[in-house]
Order: sequence, then structure tokens, then C-alpha cells
Amino acid sequence: MKTVIIGGVAGGASAAARLRRLDESAEIILLEKGPYISFANCGLPYYLGGEIKEREELLLQTPESFYNRFKIDVRVLSEAVKIDRQRKVVHIKNLKDNTEYEESYDKLILSPGAKPIIPNIKGINRKNVFTLRNIPDTDKITEYIAEYSPRSAAVIGGGYIGLEMAENLYLRGLEVTVLEKASHVIGSLDFDTAVEVHNYIRSKGINLILGEAAEEITDSPDGKTIIKTANREIKTDMIILSIGVTPDTALAEDCGLELAPNNAVITNEHMQTSDKDIYAVGDCVMVKNLVTGEPAHIPLAGPANKQGRIAADNICGIKSVYKGSIGSAILKFFDLTVAACGINERAAKASGLDYDKVFLYALSHAGYYPGARNISMKVLFENKTGRILGAQLVGFKGVDKRCDVLSAAIRHGFTAYDLEELELCYAPPFSSAKDPVNMAGFVITNIIEGIVKQYHWHDIDRLSKDENVTLLDVRTEREAARGCLERSINIPLDSLRDRLNELDKSKPVYVVCQSGLRSYIACRLLSQNGFDCYNLAGGYRLYESVTKEKEKTPSLQNGTEL
Ligand code: FAD
Repeated sequence: MKTVIIGGVAGGASAAARLRRLDESAEIILLEKGPYISFANCGLPYYLGGEIKEREELLLQTPESFYNRFKIDVRVLSEAVKIDRQRKVVHIKNLKDNTEYEESYDKLILSPGAKPIIPNIKGINRKNVFTLRNIPDTDKITEYIAEYSPRSAAVIGGGYIGLEMAENLYLRGLEVTVLEKASHVIGSLDFDTAVEVHNYIRSKGINLILGEAAEEITDSPDGKTIIKTANREIKTDMIILSIGVTPDTALAEDCGLELAPNNAVITNEHMQTSDKDIYAVGDCVMVKNLVTGEPAHIPLAGPANKQGRIAADNICGIKSVYKGSIGSAILKFFDLTVAACGINERAAKASGLDYDKVFLYALSHAGYYPGARNISMKVLFENKTGRILGAQLVGFKGVDKRCDVLSAAIRHGFTAYDLEELELCYAPPFSSAKDPVNMAGFVITNIIEGIVKQYHWHDIDRLSKDENVTLLDVRTEREAARGCLERSINIPLDSLRDRLNELDKSKPVYVVCQSGLRSYIACRLLSQNGFDCYNLAGGYRLYESVTKEKEKTPSLQNGTEL
């Protein structure tokens, strides 16, 4: 069996190694148009920032090491330029001497990845505008910094790679601006979770501009570059473009493979394309979103590696399947960790799911053991079933493990009742006897079982104008004096039992405290005394941070989708 693989990094290299492990007699040719195979794309920002010191650390395999270990015929600087499906040959351009030749295949695996989206903006093509996808891109940025000693950088696009680049350029001593067209950074978060990330970005001295798009790039008389948005001009020495990627599927399209509307290759669960002898994996394919069941493009390293292995399995007669993805992703931004899995509210609404959400603030480990830090969690669940749909977490410690547990839960269709039951390891330095993931389960089942009803920060504008409801603040007087909901009355939780007569039983009571815990206790007290009451999810803390964020960013106040 002769297999040709196009693309020699995550999916391609993974497929090649698995093929060899399964079939010692196979002929395997790995084509890579760039100069390197199997490099650590995910490590590139950290090399640029100096965290990864040696460039060689990024090269996980070389053609020689891959040949020595796996006897794979690796051809770098070799671009597949055409696939002839009738004759089962690939046309290859040798980029060293520009010659072309053909290579036949029994099976073909496409793993060409995705390419950075370059927006159609006037002035974008200039030597100080960079994208980051591979080692040559990294070299270009390094060389530019070495030659021109830029003092400032603007990152257009506040996704995972954009923020990693913002951090790493800042660590190299540049003044950094992040410009994001949407109302918040990191598209897999919702606005209310991202606000905490925004505050942290600003606390680092990074200039964050939200809700504005780059419209033109021009020169400034002093030799700098200017990014124009509808509201301002941003002066900078260099620009990193990181507004997302699009599947690199010109070859697949050209040879007539079935593509999705976004141009990603459609495969079956064996990673087989519309041509039974051609497989496709990684950033170039559509997958099934396991939460919604809908097709999705989820360009991440874990799925690419797994799909490469699955394609190889199937070529060797093992019928393994790729069931789908839930987009688990994580970011280190200085000391902060941001992680998400499953779907966010935008996706839940688009899929027509009947969902609700809870917000929790939990400690990373037992409060009495030194060093515990807050984790802010938002968990989406399906109303009727309690099935966990998505989670977003922000914090300094223990975020990764909670998100991983929730990823496993979402992948396997767990409900909030399952989260309650999870037996997670505990000792004071690591967690609490009731882990934050268990707590999420408790909070959600309380809602599903009707033990407490909740309302949200986005209901408050309406409620504070409604004379037919009571807004009850159960924080201490001192806390309430620092800021409270309009029209709310303050009865601290510990005196509530004795002051119930101050409340009008004929009106629903909307209770608020700082984080949602005391107001939950108050709701239990009130409902057992005959009141119709509701708990503010995420508390005044969330309401205040979201409200302040909207005020800070005028472009977000005119109905921009949050
Ligand atoms: P790639 O790994 O991109 O490999 C595709 C290769 O195919 C490329 O080297 C390309 O040159 C080659 N190629 C394309 N066309 C041809 C052709 N016609 N002929 C020959 N060769 C061709 N994911 C995470 O999950 N976590 C992270 O932290 C993370 N960080 C990232 C940071 C950066 C800076 C980048 C760029 C990506 C990051 N990713 C991360 C995404 C992850 O790297 C990709 O999802 C993954 O590499 C996709 O694997 P792939 O095999 O589909 O494509």
C-alpha cells in the first residue's frame, strides 16, 4: 500500500507515524511545502516572547529523524499542486528548483491545515504586517524586531493566538494594543465571562480596544504605521493580524472533493472524503459539534492529531471513528488562565437550544490552605434534561483541571446530576471536599428542581423600572453603600428572618448579594415563608463588572451584539 500525505505537521505527521506503526511494509510519502515538518505551531508565540529559548525546541521531528525512526519518505519544500483523482496521482512542485513531477498513490491523506484570514483592508500589504502560522512567519517577526527595534505593536484580533502574541510582544518590551472588532475577546467566551479577561488585559498595561474594526492602514509622517477605525487612529510600529483562519482547501476544491459552504472538506466519521481513496484531517475538515450535532469547523491541535491517527487506522483496516469535537481550548495570558469547552450562549441560541446558565465563584483549593485563588465559572445547561452544554472558566489556578473535567462531562453527555456525583480527588492543597465542578452540579440541579429560581444581569434594567417587583439586597449595609441596584432595599441576610414584615408578599422579590451565595440562602428563607423570589446569578459582582465594561466602551452601547 502506498500512501501519500499532504501536509507534514499536526495531522499529517501523526497519520504518517501511525501508518508505519500499523504497517511495516507500507510505502509512506510525506509532502510538506514548508522547510520543516512536525513543528510546534502552538509554541511559536512563546518562542517569540523568549519563554522558549531555542528555536530547535520547536522542531519536534526533522526529515532525518522521521526517516530513522519510521522510514517515512519526507519531502520538504515539496508542494502538492494538483490531484488527479482518475489517475490517482499527485502533481508535486519541488520548491528548491521549481521542477514538477508526479507521484502515484493508493491512498491519499490531506492535512494542509488552515491559513490566516487576511482582511480586505486598504494598506494591509506592508512589510510590518505579520501573520503567525509557521516557523518562517516566526522568523520574519524575529528578524523585523531585531532589525527595526519596534517600540509598539498592534494585534488585530483578540482570539487565542492574538492574546498569546500580545503577551509575548509585551514581554519583549513592546507597547501593545489589542484591537478587537467584536464586543469581547476570545470568541468562545460570552461577553459576561470575557469582561474579567478584559480587566486583566488592561491591568497589564495593554491597550484594549473593543467593538472597532481596522478599516485602513496608512503611513504616518513620523515613519510609524496608522490603523484607522471608525473612531480613532492607532499609531504603531508593527501589526500582527490574528483574526482567524480559513481551511486551506484549494487543492481539494480543484479536484472536486465535496466541500462545506465555508470550504472545509466534508468527510465521514472515518475521515474519508467524497473520494473513498482520499482522507482529510485537521484544520481543513468539517467535524460534528458534539453538543449541537451540527457541522462545525474547529481548528485545534488535539482534533487534528486524533484525526490523523484515525485516517491511518482506516487505511490499515481498523474501522476507528472520529465522533466529533467540543472545541476544548485554553489560554495562558500572563498569570491568568482562560478555558472553554462545549458551546457558548451565541451557539446555544443559534441552535435553538432551551438552555440556562449559572455563574459560580469557587476557590481553586480549600480556603484555609495557603494560596487558594478564585475561579470564575459559567456553565450552560439544557433546561429540561440538565445536560451540560458548555463551560467558560477564568482564574489563576486550577482552571485547566476543572475545564478538563467539564470537557469530559460534556463529551459524554453528562447532566448536572452527574456533576454532583463526580468523585474528584481532594486534599486541601488541591481542591475542596465539594470541588467547583460538583458545586456547578449543585447550583444547576437546585434550579432544575425548582429549589431556587434565578434571574440574570441582563434582566436588571427592566426589573429596576418595574414597580410591581421588590429588589432586595441582602449584603451588609457597608457593601450596599459602595454600590447597589437602583430601587433596591437593603436587608442584610443575617437580619432577614426578623425583618420579613418589611417585605410585600404580593410582589415577587428579586434578591441580590455580591456573588449569588447569600442571595441563594435568602431565597430559600423567603420561599419557605411564602415569597415568590429569584436569585441574581453571578451576583452584584457580575452585574457591576458587565455594566462598567459597557460604559467603558461607547461602541458597545448602541445595540452591538454582546
Ligand atoms: P498544520 O499543522 O497547520 O499543518 C499543515 C501543513 O500543511 C503546513 O505545514 C503547510 O505548509 C502544509 N501544506 C499546506 N498545503 C500544502 C501543499 N499543497 N503541499 C504540501 N504541504 C502543504 N491549537 C491548539 O489546540 N492549542 C494551541 O495552543 C494552539 N496554538 C496555536 C498557536 C499558533 C501560533 C498556531 C498557528 C496554531 C495554534 N493551534 C493551537 C492550532 C493548531 O496548531 C492546528 O489546529 C493544527 O496544527 C492543525 O493541524 P493540521 O495538520 O490540520 O495543519
